[in-house]
Amino acid sequence: MILDKIETLLKEVNSLSAKNMEDVEQLRRKYLSKKGEISALMGDFRNVATDQKRAVGIKLNELKKAATDKITSLRNQMEEAGATNDDIDLTRSAYPIRLGSRHPLTVVKNEIIDIFDRMGFVLADGPEIDDDLHVFTKLNFAADHPARDMQDTFFIEQSDPNDVTKNVLLRSHTSGDQAHYMEEHQPPFRILCPGRVYRNEAISARAHCFFHQVEGLYVDKGVSFTDLKQVLLTFAREMFGADTKIRLRPSYFPFTEPSAEMDISCNICGGKGCAFCKHTGWVEILGCGMVDPNVLEAGGIDSKVYTGYAFGMGVERIANLKYRVSDLRMFSENDLNFLKEFESVY
Ligand SMILES: [Zn+2]
Repeated sequence: MILDKIETLLKEVNSLSAKNMEDVEQLRRKYLSKKGEISALMGDFRNVATDQKRAVGIKLNELKKAATDKITSLRNQMEEAGATNDDIDLTRSAYPIRLGSRHPLTVVKNEIIDIFDRMGFVLADGPEIDDDLHVFTKLNFAADHPARDMQDTFFIEQSDPNDVTKNVLLRSHTSGDQAHYMEEHQPPFRILCPGRVYRNEAISARAHCFFHQVEGLYVDKGVSFTDLKQVLLTFAREMFGADTKIRLRPSYFPFTEPSAEMDISCNICGGKGCAFCKHTGWVEILGCGMVDPNVLEAGGIDSKVYTGYAFGMGVERIANLKYRVSDLRMFSENDLNFLKEFESVY
């Protein structure tokens, strides 16, 4: 008799259906709960004759498994249907995701790095807060050089005028990175030092208390001014176009001898003369020169064996020439209308 009951329930269970989660829960209670029909049969199992227990037991387990499987499968069906019908509205409009873009100075800096990277320069980093030893002393600045003046440079600490390592400052150029690099490395090396630098300037359209530089240094046996000139010409042509001309004018820097300032042919008038180039046909873009032997010696490099060249440029200056940004302050005002102008550049 119990076998008939099991058989009936088995048919019933296999043909179960549900319209929603509540139906499923009702079925679970009816068949699988402690007070459900299958539990009741388990209770009756005690009274089954011993010789039939095995057969009935197998059937009973079969019924329990069938009920569990069926109800689980109904629940899964309801969950899937519910997710599609209720939780996701495919017709709803999406929230717009506002993507940022690279800052124009980053774009230009990366472009400069790319060009020199192709000529074998590797990046070298250094601290923005540095000491007099690396920013001035090792770079051959005279003791009374104006850059060492409080008026020109942001000193954080000047505890001992006789100990240059005790004078701490915001670096005024990334040449300090080169001084650090020379302490750790022997030639040949070819490095590029990009970074932010600080000077005590009144903020105006043409000057700021901070700006960005990329400096380069190449030291090896037999490096000459010719190498410097060719590398800079290649840079100018890659950056401003294949027909760009360069000219070098004698100049003075403490860390190079001889030193030069480099102009490129005006990329607006093509050298004919316009308001932008003040009718000269040329615009200045960087300073350069052969590394002063004193700088090499201060870096632990034998200046009788090795020579080198160095150059440095302002990233803002190059960006101005490329994108005609007339006011330096625009670069740090976080004006989205200005920054959006460069979205398509990269
Ligand atoms: Zn011009």
